[in-house]
Amino acid sequence: MNLSAESHRIPLSDGNSIPLLGLGTYADPQKTPKGSCLEAVKIAIDAGYRHIDGAFVYFNEHEVGQAIREKIAEGKIKREDIFYCGKLWNTCHPPELVRPTLEKTLKILQLDYVDLYIIELPMAFKPGDALYPKDENGKFIYHETDLCATWEALEACKDAGLAKSIGVSNFNRRQLEMIMNKPGLKYKPVSNQVECHPYFTQPKLLEFCRQHDIVIVGYSPLGTSRDESWVNVSSPPLLKDPVLNAIGKKYNKTAAQIALRFNVQRGVVVIPKSFNPQRIRENFQIFDFSLTEKEMKEIEALNKNVRYVELLM
Ligand code: NAP
Repeated sequence: MNLSAESHRIPLSDGNSIPLLGLGTYADPQKTPKGSCLEAVKIAIDAGYRHIDGAFVYFNEHEVGQAIREKIAEGKIKREDIFYCGKLWNTCHPPELVRPTLEKTLKILQLDYVDLYIIELPMAFKPGDALYPKDENGKFIYHETDLCATWEALEACKDAGLAKSIGVSNFNRRQLEMIMNKPGLKYKPVSNQVECHPYFTQPKLLEFCRQHDIVIVGYSPLGTSRDESWVNVSSPPLLKDPVLNAIGKKYNKTAAQIALRFNVQRGVVVIPKSFNPQRIRENFQIFDFSLTEKEMKEIEALNKNVRYVELLM
């Protein structure tokens, strides 16, 4: 795939397109100073990022919205230059909750639409104020909803112009097929956001999604923050990998840049999170070189089929 910084977008099945590189915005709200996300998004936009990945449950969507609006007011960008992905949380799967939930997100962002709205996880929690509802034994309280009915509510949000495109996240092949085989399907998912990096290359899901024109958006493309509260840290740190570092040396790039380039070069969108100005800029510098076929194979061979994000729920 021939990629340049100017044209680093790939088409979506509904006629829209998505930038191959986006800024992830999940940071532990307890440990992250207020305003960090606002500054990071503004720095990212100045560095050339046009795709921002966020969610209601990241508790910083107001900062993302403010950064986008400030950059529009400055004349740096227009709204249509930006691609914002928001997510429907597990407690909001009942179809009647979908549109009000997206409207709440739009109110927080102070934007008229999101570019992509995705079902964050395929399982539902009990609706209510608790985002992680648990019983007296500390077990999650799940909720029976029909994912196909949730999907129909997303289709209605697209028709209403509240989301330009709709997709899913953390769906396996069976769950994707369930949506795609739904009688009366109006729009199929344009994308599936899943963990994807050189230690978890997702060969089978990637092939299935390619066949069905579903773009894979790879989260944790640098191997996560290794925060023990939600990451399986028994897997070795991706960015210390000798192969990634050796290939990086050849191109005067870091292991992080090689990990990101590997995915974009095979058509996988990456959304690395950084709130550090230098690393935000570093992660964008992946469109001025390409990996050889041999190097792509070497990196593919690093796959360990181990997730950092175990999603124990
Ligand atoms: P990630 O992007 O793989 O890694 C982020 C960590 O790497 C941070 O600690 C960051 O620290 C550090 N980092 C960033 N650039 C670096 C570089 N060039 N060199 C060295 N370290 C670097 O992990 P992630 O946050 O898990 O995933 C990215 C995004 O995917 C999230 O922010 C979120 O938007 C999304 N996500 C979605 C789901 C889902 O279920 N759909 C799940 C997980 C994540 P600094 O900030 O200090 O640079």
